[in-house]
Amino acid sequence: MSLAETFAPVRVRAPGKINVFLEVGYLQDDGYHELATAFQAVSLFEDVVASPAEGFSMAVTGSVALDGVPVDDRNLALRAARLLAAETGYEGGVHLDVHKQVPVAGGMGGGSADAAAALVACDALWETGLSSTDLQRLAARLGADVPFALMGGTAIGAGRGDRLSPALARGRFDWVLVVSDEGVSTPAVYGELDRHRERHRVDIGPIRDVPEVDADVLHALRAGDARMLASSLRNDLQAATLHLRPDLAPVLEQGEEWGALAGIVSGSGPTLAFLCGSPQEALDLQTRLSGAGHEALHVHGPVPGARVVP
Ligand code: ATP
Repeated sequence: MSLAETFAPVRVRAPGKINVFLEVGYLQDDGYHELATAFQAVSLFEDVVASPAEGFSMAVTGSVALDGVPVDDRNLALRAARLLAAETGYEGGVHLDVHKQVPVAGGMGGGSADAAAALVACDALWETGLSSTDLQRLAARLGADVPFALMGGTAIGAGRGDRLSPALARGRFDWVLVVSDEGVSTPAVYGELDRHRERHRVDIGPIRDVPEVDADVLHALRAGDARMLASSLRNDLQAATLHLRPDLAPVLEQGEEWGALAGIVSGSGPTLAFLCGSPQEALDLQTRLSGAGHEALHVHGPVPGARVVP
C-alpha cells in the first residue's frame, strides 16, 4: 500500500488576527519588547492541506499578493511541520498546500496562522496525537503570534505576545479591513518606534515597566460592546507604521468619517481595521471604501483557532 493510500489529506483552517490593544514596553536587552496585547481572531482564513509525502515540500496559492512568501524551509508552515516531526520522532514527510487570504506582511499574523494550521494538520495526518498543551509549546517556539493562531477566539498576550490567557468575550464585532498592496516589515516598524521614542522622550511620558491591557478593553470584550471597544482601541505601533506609510493616515480618517466607530492599524500594519456598529454599517463602509478604490473586506470576530475542516 502506498503512502497516499494509508493517509488521506487533512485540511486545516486558521484565522488572521487583529490586536485590539497593543501596548509596547521597553526595548529589552535581547532586542525584543515586553508587550501587553488583546488579540481577536477574525474571519479571514488561511487553509493548509497536508498530504502524505516522502520528504518535505510545499506550494502556496492565494487571493492576496504572494510576493516575498518563501516555499522552502524559511516558510513558517514548513518549519512547523519539521519541528513536529523532530519532536515526535515521525520519520515520514508531508506536502503542504497553503492557500492564503490574509495579506502577506500585513500585520495580521498570516504566516503564524499557516504555522498553527500546519501543526494541527500534520498532527492529524501523522496521528502523532499531541495534546493541545504540547501543540501550544511547539507553537511558541515557532513565533510569538503562532500560539494565538492555534487558540483563536479572544485572548490576552503577555511577554512577546506568546504568553496567552483566553479572555471572556461575548457577541460579534464587525470590522472592515483595508488591505495594502505592499507589506511592511515588522522589525522595521519596531525600529521606527524605538527611534520615535528616543526623539520624543519628554513628550510621550514614561513607558510602563510592565505593560498591561486596559480594564476598559476587557470590559468591552466581555460585554460585546463595539462602541465601548471603539473608544478603548490602542496600538502603540500605529505612529511608527504611519511614519513609514504616511499614505495610510488619510485613509484612517476617511473610514471614520464614513461611519466606522474607530479605525486602527492592525498590529505592525499596513492593514487598517475599522470597527463598525453592525454588519450593515460594515457593509456600507466596505462599499464606500471599495468605491474610492481601496481593497476593503468585511470580516467579523471572534472566530475559532486552527482546526480540521471536512
Ligand atoms: P507578524 O505581524 O506576525 O510579524 P505579518 O502578518 O505582518 O506578521 P506575515 O505575512 O506573517 O506578516 O509574514 C511576514 C514575512 O514572513 C513575509 O514577508 C515572508 O517573508 C515571511 N514568511 C514566512 N512564512 C510565511 C508564510 N507562511 N506566509 C507569509 N509569509 C511568510
